[in-house]
Amino acid sequence: MTDPTSHPTTTDAGIPVESDEHSLTVGPDGPILLQDAYLIEQMAQFNRERIPERQPHAKGSGAFGHFEVTADVSRYTKAALFQPGVRTDLVTRFSTVAGERGSPDTWRDPRGFAVKFYTSEGNYDMVGNNTPVFFIKDPMKFQHFIRSQKRRADNNLRDHDMQWDFWTLSPESAHQVTWLMGDRGIPRTWRHMNGYSSHTYLWINAAGERSWVKYHFKTDQGIECFTQDEADQMVAVDTDYHTRDLFEHIRDGEFPSWTLYVQIMPYEDAAAYRFNPFDLTKVWPHGDYPLVEVGRMTLDRNPTDNHAEIEQAAFQPNNLVPGIGPSPDRMLLGRLFAYADAHRARIGANYQQLPVNAPIAPVRTYSKDGAMAYRKTTDPVYAPNSKGGPSADVAAHGSPPSWHADGEITRTAYVSHAEDDDWGQPGTMVREVLDDDARGRLVDNVVGHLLNGVTEDVLKRAFQYWRNIDPGIGTRIEDGVRAKQHEKDPKAAQQANPARTTMQQKA
Ligand code: NDP
Repeated sequence: MTDPTSHPTTTDAGIPVESDEHSLTVGPDGPILLQDAYLIEQMAQFNRERIPERQPHAKGSGAFGHFEVTADVSRYTKAALFQPGVRTDLVTRFSTVAGERGSPDTWRDPRGFAVKFYTSEGNYDMVGNNTPVFFIKDPMKFQHFIRSQKRRADNNLRDHDMQWDFWTLSPESAHQVTWLMGDRGIPRTWRHMNGYSSHTYLWINAAGERSWVKYHFKTDQGIECFTQDEADQMVAVDTDYHTRDLFEHIRDGEFPSWTLYVQIMPYEDAAAYRFNPFDLTKVWPHGDYPLVEVGRMTLDRNPTDNHAEIEQAAFQPNNLVPGIGPSPDRMLLGRLFAYADAHRARIGANYQQLPVNAPIAPVRTYSKDGAMAYRKTTDPVYAPNSKGGPSADVAAHGSPPSWHADGEITRTAYVSHAEDDDWGQPGTMVREVLDDDARGRLVDNVVGHLLNGVTEDVLKRAFQYWRNIDPGIGTRIEDGVRAKQHEKDPKAAQQANPARTTMQQKA
């Protein structure tokens, strides 16, 4: 009889197994038998353990927690999760962008900052970054942008030449590239960085009044960053440093938190604002729209199964609850499709039924069947019906979040606002936000990056790109590259790629 206190191994069908160590053979030296169903189950399941990694944002980690509203923003949104005093459970995931699942946490890269709020009105996902802006403003360029940051076709290497080639041919990238090459381009940990919606969203209050909104999650741990040298050293010591840091702090009861602020723009301001408020490469200066406190997010629970709870967590910016809508930000509008589609491709059609993705709000949907369907479908399976199936509450929810739009169908850039050039805001950052030391580190970081295999034509464009941001910085960067470019010892040329340096010297 089995000892009731023991936990004997079973097959996936719950059948007790005879051995965890020995295959079924014909005598000790004989062949293994095909009828060893347990061995075959173990080998077959192992072959299927990995699911496709995310295309960007493959390397990341996350945790569970809650959000508490500490202020009153009900005059701007009727969303239940943002009403005074409400507490909402959530899951977060932080990530790098360009690296694969095993890549180092401390590469210079923007960080993903994704939050899924399990609200009483269904899931609300804020899929942001640790930067308030992005490299591009139209989803048509997204695929090309990500490919330029990943690997070449021929040698499967990441390549600074293609990164700068894309950036210098895409001047709208200047603000994000300046941000990335500055101190905040390598956060010390996930806990020591801010999160931003980056996108503009629409908030709607109970009276139907609309405002444009940007989210800022400010770290309560304080901003801390790695220099390039510190990050390089950490790559050699611990490729998973950010993952480990978050997990161990939560395990030890040191719960990280972020205070959520929003910038609120009256609906009518958008048309005449000096920057296009929907352009993802621009911020709204705080002097124009100050931060308004909303509440605090605290992370206090680690996953127990990283695959089930974080790798399969599916964040999608089209999970918007009543009181929150999208804006004309084209990148956001593209992401409303792309994220849910990525999850269908990566996890499967019924990914929203997995525990980490399932809402606490009741689901009354006509979606049915598909691979791995877990939620049971009941009749009627169609609408409209006279059989008691769910029907939309038109009176309660009324018209969708909307804004006025008209014009010919076209493929053109955004309408330009008064100060919408690509160089202005990064120039402000260089001249007015950074101090002398920070400007010096920015120059060093860019010079080091450019010395790593960037070809002469692209280098010339890069110098002009930085002069457009700030003439003085551009000159310092060019001088820095030219001074080290022809040093005989390739190691002295900072991180120069040896293979390419050799090729350039031969040429
Ligand atoms: P403010 O002086 O009001 O704010 C400057 C902002 O820059 C603060 O949010 C500060 O964050 C942040 N910051 C400080 N150092 C760095 C750095 N090395 N890298 C990135 N951000 C940094 O200025 P404005 O709002 O008028 O904006 C001026 C410029 O500041 C913008 O052009 C933009 O480049 C940058 N910025 C603006 C933000 C915004 O939403 N308005 C947000 C982040 C950057 P903190 O307060 O946490 O120290």
